[in-house]
Amino acid sequence: MKYPIVAYGDPILRKKATAIEPEEYPHIKALIENMFETMYAARGVGLAAPQIGISMRLFVIDASAFEDDDPALKGFKKAFINAMVLEENGDEWSFNEGCLSIPEIREDVYRQPTVKLSYYDEDWKHHEDTFSGMAARIIQHEYDHIEGKLFIDKLSPLRKRLIQKKLNDISKGIVDVEYKMKFPAVKKGR
Ligand SMILES: [Zn+2]
Repeated sequence: MKYPIVAYGDPILRKKATAIEPEEYPHIKALIENMFETMYAARGVGLAAPQIGISMRLFVIDASAFEDDDPALKGFKKAFINAMVLEENGDEWSFNEGCLSIPEIREDVYRQPTVKLSYYDEDWKHHEDTFSGMAARIIQHEYDHIEGKLFIDKLSPLRKRLIQKKLNDISKGIVDVEYKMKFPAVKKGR
């Protein structure tokens, strides 16, 4: 089942998501499967629960598209439950990021190259792992979503001014996008 993806401007994207307990979500595996399906249909490499309107600390990632740049990413498909960043290290590097909630905008974003994370997988097995390179980059982007942050927050005031009209248009649904979205400023029943 595919969810509509929540567009920029929806307050849920600005909420710090809450941790979840296994007994609260006995069907979390089905939710994770649906999130992957939603993400693949939109040609994304990561998707966080707030982006489908659910404020919980859960995100999914498939970094295998970057396998050519980094062979370690072959088959890198993971779900992260209740993730907490423990440490970030290294000199910041820039990459041109995009976001399924902010279509048609891509901007260079600086992030540190390694991230140490505590999280649970879809079987509620606990992990403490360190990720680097593109895997770290995608994790940091998705982790920001469960903290209520967006990649555009990291832009300079000038860059932000330059994309402001486009952002307003996205909130109003004035955007050409091939996947289903939910726009905050579009009234229901229209
Ligand atoms: Zn995003």
